[in-house]
Amino acid sequence: MNEPDQSVESPIARVIVEIALDKEFDYRVPDALRAAVRIGSQVIVPFGRRKITGYVVGFVARSERAHLKDVLRVVGKQPLITESIVALARWMAAYYGCPLEQAVRTVLPSVVRRSSGRFKEVPHVIMTAEAEMVSDSLERLRRQAPKQAAVLEALGRESVMPVPRLTQQTGATLATARALEKKGLVRIEKRNVDRSPFERYQVIPTEPLALMPQQEEALSLIRQSIETRTPPVVLLFGVTGSGKTEVYLQALQLVLDQGKGAIVLVPEISLTPQTVERFRSRFGDVVAVLHSHLSGGERHDEWHRVRQGRARIAIGARSALFAPVDRLGLIVVDEEHEGSYKQEEAPRYHARDVAVVRGRMEDCAVVLGTATPALESIHNAACGKYGRVRLAARVDHRRMPAIRVVDMRMEMEKEGRLNVLSRDLLDAIQMRLDRKEQTILFLNRRGFATSLVCPKCGYVAECTECSVAMTYHKAAHELRCHICGAVRPVPAQCPESTCRDPAFRYGGLGTQRVEETVRKLFPRANVERMDADTTTRKDAYGRILGAFRAGEVDILLGTQMIAKGLDFPNVTLVGVINADIALHMPDFRAGERTFQLLTQVAGRAGRGDVAGEVIVQTFTPFHPAIQAARRLDYDGFFDQEIEFRRELFYPPFSHLVCITLRGPRESELQATGNRLVERVKPRLDSRVIFAGPNPAPLARAKGEFRYQIMFRARHTKQVMEPLRTELAEFKWPRKVRYAVDVDALSML
Ligand code: ADP
Ligand code: ZN
Repeated sequence: MNEPDQSVESPIARVIVEIALDKEFDYRVPDALRAAVRIGSQVIVPFGRRKITGYVVGFVARSERAHLKDVLRVVGKQPLITESIVALARWMAAYYGCPLEQAVRTVLPSVVRRSSGRFKEVPHVIMTAEAEMVSDSLERLRRQAPKQAAVLEALGRESVMPVPRLTQQTGATLATARALEKKGLVRIEKRNVDRSPFERYQVIPTEPLALMPQQEEALSLIRQSIETRTPPVVLLFGVTGSGKTEVYLQALQLVLDQGKGAIVLVPEISLTPQTVERFRSRFGDVVAVLHSHLSGGERHDEWHRVRQGRARIAIGARSALFAPVDRLGLIVVDEEHEGSYKQEEAPRYHARDVAVVRGRMEDCAVVLGTATPALESIHNAACGKYGRVRLAARVDHRRMPAIRVVDMRMEMEKEGRLNVLSRDLLDAIQMRLDRKEQTILFLNRRGFATSLVCPKCGYVAECTECSVAMTYHKAAHELRCHICGAVRPVPAQCPESTCRDPAFRYGGLGTQRVEETVRKLFPRANVERMDADTTTRKDAYGRILGAFRAGEVDILLGTQMIAKGLDFPNVTLVGVINADIALHMPDFRAGERTFQLLTQVAGRAGRGDVAGEVIVQTFTPFHPAIQAARRLDYDGFFDQEIEFRRELFYPPFSHLVCITLRGPRESELQATGNRLVERVKPRLDSRVIFAGPNPAPLARAKGEFRYQIMFRARHTKQVMEPLRTELAEFKWPRKVRYAVDVDALSML
């Protein structure tokens, strides 16, 4: 397409190959392939005795190697990776400290890598010029061969038709078309067809809405960014329902009008058919969706629709950031604060951060939208790196819900025991049932929730392989480890030899236990539970939500799955069973996460005509994050949190680099960690702070011990440069493995 043809003057291609080697190899480009081999081309090269797939990542004039082998073949008509994405992969490899080959694998979906050129081909019947001339004799054909006549008639309306559609319309088969081909009236040709994920959906076109003044202001700043790249990034800070999506849609239109393309990232969990439909109903077929739930064929074809420029807007979760959109004008990152933008396996990239980098590299605007900006993003806005607009009110001026905090310590004193539902929450639910309104109950059960506790000695059933409490699953009456998946039977009495108390009970609170309680308390209500266990089947998520939307469910309870993006007008009450779970994670971001979570959950209440109410149960009612969430006071939360981050030199004032060591022997891990620290230390800038090796909060997982070394530095480079050299030369014990996490989000 528009890649400069660098192959002309540089006959040697730098190639990385699809086996994990952090190396680039030189191959000669034979004259016959000179025009075809470009940066980003997928090529077949000889490697030892084999022929393997590789990617051209650059060209050099001279090689250090004497005898170069030739590139054998180029795959596909067009380089698979655009030059700008090769550059982005290089940046990722350097920043996140991973091999370039791994970064390239990340930017190219596996269905595209493995089956490039494997499009679905279907025979098409094409009207030839002669066919039109015989239209006089069509009458005769109609009598002699009515099916053939029907085919010609259909082709008269639409000169090219795929055989399946022709068959559907006329009853004719491929044999009928062959007969016509013999007569020279049609031509049969295999052509590509797209396997489209949208076939089943009919969308009703929508028109741009007249914007509210605050939206207008947002759009004009984004327009300025699109046109001048000043500011380079716009933080669109607006409560749920403030009309952010409409602003995205109109910004996308601006970009399309300039002949440019765009990428829209949404968190995996929000990538529902409804979300995609909002974009499709405005822009139709120029929207492609890149989604792991599509079939391999659909994913392959959608990706190529983007690569070939037939689709101009790519929507998807994290990895859609690497969509090969040509002439990129805008990247939208919706819910930019979402942790799921960070990939938790190598390369551990953060899609929002890489989006900002891609925007810079390709000179395109970036919009970060959220109701609860990440501290990093709001800080960047505060110090002028990003532009910022605030959508302070909901579009329809609906009131924000009233948030009430219930102190569970007092509740316990009053009732003489600890109930799952406080008196306040109980009454509130009953009121909704009476008024035929709906309730959402939210429980963040993941993390370090204890599950099987002895009331006498305090024993907690832990996984033998991982240092976490096991979770009791009632349906199967067994204990499961949510880290490694181990299953254990439930002991009949406390296993502690000095205790053996038979009153061994389920202590922690899981969604199942809440469900049971709610069913018991409200026997006439329809209750549904939604969490990882009830949605293992692919369609379950949609089915439960469908039933809830239809009003067949009175009370929906679940994990964070229900905290995001759902919009049900009849929900007037949201109950948070235990706000403290997220708060007590061993992580400096616990306060931020709790604040975000409560704000998001609260956003579920009262989107209809009735004002919503939120009840938050907690044992720490005066915690600043909970108090700020209660007042819907982002600024207050920010002011306090940012001071704490500044004092302790945590992000956004520093970058974190976390090295996790894993191995079967604790002493060996500790010794290895110490040795590594001793070697890196002299090379570190004196301003870099480091801690460890220390046992990780999740000290054991899957039978291995885990140790962490944590670095905090003003610039990632101050850690990564010395570290890279050290890690390459370091003598690792055979069974010790390590992972480097730059800008770590999970501290476990
Ligand atoms: P957000 O993305 O911030 O949650 P949406 O863009 O989804 O907000 O807007 C919330 C609701 O308000 C949607 O139903 C949307 O169609 C409607 N809406 C948005 N902007 C306008 C507008 N300018 N005029 C009328 N309705 C609007
Ligand atoms: Zn385990």
